[in-house]
Amino acid sequence: MASEVTVSLQFIEEEGHRALELPAPGQRAEVRHLFGLRGPRPVKILAKLFGVRETAILSVRQVHGDSIRVIGTSGDEDDSDGAWDALVTNRKGIVITVKAADCLPILIWDGNKKVAAAVHAGWRGSLKAIASKTVLTMRSSFGCRPDDLWVGIGPAIGPCCYEVDGPVLGPLRAEFEYWKDVVRETGGGKGMLDLAGLNLRQLIASGVLPDRIAVTGACTFCHPERFYSYRRDGQSSGGMINGMMICNDD
Ligand SMILES: [Zn+2]
Repeated sequence: MASEVTVSLQFIEEEGHRALELPAPGQRAEVRHLFGLRGPRPVKILAKLFGVRETAILSVRQVHGDSIRVIGTSGDEDDSDGAWDALVTNRKGIVITVKAADCLPILIWDGNKKVAAAVHAGWRGSLKAIASKTVLTMRSSFGCRPDDLWVGIGPAIGPCCYEVDGPVLGPLRAEFEYWKDVVRETGGGKGMLDLAGLNLRQLIASGVLPDRIAVTGACTFCHPERFYSYRRDGQSSGGMINGMMICNDD
């Protein structure tokens, strides 16, 4: 059954805000997810697109770390002033979100265990292997099998535009044997990093099946009409909101 599911991309336009949706046909009644584009009032639009109140949209403080917040069904929600760069839940009717503008958003769905995850992976989080750790957390907290997972890798700054140097390349070479596959060295100790490719390889190394991973491949820096870009626009840049919700049964 699962092998019949394909992953495709489509755009949604709503009140001037455009969202890039990555539906898995056949599973849409169970889960909804989308990668946001730039635009005004993203939380309001997200609530409308998902058909929920704004209070059902959960965002957390992100710090480019590798802490993962697990939200179960039994009211064990931690509302403290913590910070997390990934959210994992089996709770229906809430939208877990991550915000990004150049960093990579990753949305994960286990249609077998009915568990969703949202990941924010910039270079720091990627070097800490937050995508791999999220897969491990889905397994330890909910019994998810990596080969049951469906993954959408959203827009991020691409290898066309993402020049990095020693602080990134040093740990990358040390930690990831496939580092040459995700960096094109440009001399002077610098290189162009393929952030999506790095996370793709981490997910495959974690046991996710390659044909269950959809990559948008869109570069945030190259497309100012669609995306905010921290590196292009500076600190005043907004961020795109990316969300996933396990739908209620009704
Ligand atoms: Zn680019």
